[in-house]
Amino acid sequence: MTRPVFRFAPSPNGRLHLGHAYSALLNEDLARDMGGRLLLRIEDIDPGRSRPDLVAAIHDDLAWLGLHFETPARRQSAHLETYRAAIGTLAARGLAYPCFCSRGIIAGAVQAEAERSGRPAPSDPDGAPLYPGSCRRIPAVEARTRREAGAPHTWRLDMARVLAVAPGPHAIRTFAVEAGEGRGPLAYRIGAEAVEPADPARWGDPVIARRDVPTSYHLAVVMDDAAQGVTHVVRGADLRASTDLHALLQALIGLPAPRYHHHALIRDASGAKLAKSRGSQALADLRAAGESPDSIRRSLGFA
Ligand code: GLU
Repeated sequence: MTRPVFRFAPSPNGRLHLGHAYSALLNEDLARDMGGRLLLRIEDIDPGRSRPDLVAAIHDDLAWLGLHFETPARRQSAHLETYRAAIGTLAARGLAYPCFCSRGIIAGAVQAEAERSGRPAPSDPDGAPLYPGSCRRIPAVEARTRREAGAPHTWRLDMARVLAVAPGPHAIRTFAVEAGEGRGPLAYRIGAEAVEPADPARWGDPVIARRDVPTSYHLAVVMDDAAQGVTHVVRGADLRASTDLHALLQALIGLPAPRYHHHALIRDASGAKLAKSRGSQALADLRAAGESPDSIRRSLGFA
């Protein structure tokens, strides 16, 4: 039997915080329990926010915590041409189209429609206004002329066409995590599996390539999980809704689908998500304040 493959996939947009540490430690525990591999992937597709010093800090923080990953870590910025080719294939199949709308234009159009209809403005699972599909209706020849003239554009999936090609029903295989025994009271192991329905249509026509890079988080994550042979994805519950879209992309592109576990988010004392209050909970600050890796492991529930 092939060994299970786990991964931790941070974005170098800021310092790692306790929530990242929890995710990484849980991946480590589960990989160890299953005799699996543990990979690191640096999700550095955002040219504006990814910084080399933050990549170095990720390696430093993880090593300080005592976490060991296979080397070298995969960096998404080294695979942009692979993502670009996938976008090209989806466009050639008529399943993706260029979108010239700015965020402001989309927000204005959604608001105007809400006022006209008297119904609340629809939003996607991340809370962004649901794209009304304006650029889907631009004739292909005109869209090409605008692109060739250098008009900034994203690429969006044409959800209706995609669902015609890959009607589903789409589903996600999930697994529970339970406290294990034998390695001390606080080790974790894989629990029962389940199948959950996925509803990718709630994302509308999602962006699969940004203006500045030929991919989005969603496309890169499914392509890389497949390229790295990931069998078990363990990540925060804030990405659960995204997994619906990932299941669709896997079906569409013909990629294997890992099993998923979305863990509860670590919150600060006021109950806020840590990403929102990163400063105070950054591992680097806790370390500077005298916390040890052991005390952090224990405070997060790891032996
Ligand atoms: N790079 C993403 C983040 O830092 C996580 C991606 C994933 O685990 O699928 O939030």
